[in-house]
Amino acid sequence: MRKRFENKVILITGGGSGLGQAAALRVAGEGAQLALVDVSGEALEATRKMIAERSPEAEVLLITADVADEEAVREYVRQTVERFGRIDGFYNNAGIEGRQNLTADYGSEEFLKVIGINLNGVFYGMKSVIEVMMRQGGGAIVNAASVGGIRGVGNQSGYAASKHGVVGLTRNSAIEYGEHGIRVNAVAPGAILTPMVENSLRQIAGDDWEQAGREFVSVNPMKRLGRPEEVAGVVAFLLSDDASFINAAVVPIDGGQSYKY
Ligand code: NAD
Repeated sequence: MRKRFENKVILITGGGSGLGQAAALRVAGEGAQLALVDVSGEALEATRKMIAERSPEAEVLLITADVADEEAVREYVRQTVERFGRIDGFYNNAGIEGRQNLTADYGSEEFLKVIGINLNGVFYGMKSVIEVMMRQGGGAIVNAASVGGIRGVGNQSGYAASKHGVVGLTRNSAIEYGEHGIRVNAVAPGAILTPMVENSLRQIAGDDWEQAGREFVSVNPMKRLGRPEEVAGVVAFLLSDDASFINAAVVPIDGGQSYKY
């Protein structure tokens, strides 16, 4: 495989599971030095172990932090720069789905919690990382949006508001910093089989969640769930110089479902 991230430093939040973990494995395989952030130290250790098995030469810094806490965000950025000196790529990915409910029944605390992680966390991350990228003269950011950030899904007030917000932040910052060599894009995955989506299907169907998953994908043009590696490939592309003129894009990764009538 071509090594697009040799001598590059990639920072990933939510690196302990799912899409963050898959992206970490992908860019480590392409030569990246990695700083991985997650609220779960145990999950980070699991990712470190997987990277050590597949890409033993990769340098990996683990940082346990809550992305909803602005001070903790400044600190994970500071530690990354202290260790590696720069940040070439940032996958601003940590997020939660929140409890599903209709709007009138959607708890206000739950709403604020989801916004705190998925939207505020992404904003704080961009704020601190852009400062570093401005000093070094460029970089690439990929934010975690969702199909739920470009379409209505239902039962997801907090998630929908946060992900639509991430799309807005992405386009706004991309317009501001393009001239400084900083590209800001977002991925908008559909249903990709990660612990988050399993949890979501369990909310809908309990132990019958796998059957609920099959019903869910029956309306997808490709009739299946996505795989974490299929998102990781797009994230790696957007973080790499192969995407050097792609800025402010929100890329659906959903088998075509969001364009289906
Ligand atoms: P996941 O639950 O498998 O992984 C998320 C990781 O983020 C976990 O390791 C978790 O510990 C960490 N995390 C949660 N809250 C955190 C916090 N406050 N601070 C730091 N870390 C925190 O989920 P995933 O499916 O890999 O989702 C990753 C991102 O992709 C999320 O933003 C999600 O909304 C988005 N997304 C996922 C899908 C999908 O189908 N899986 C679809 C669209 C968007």
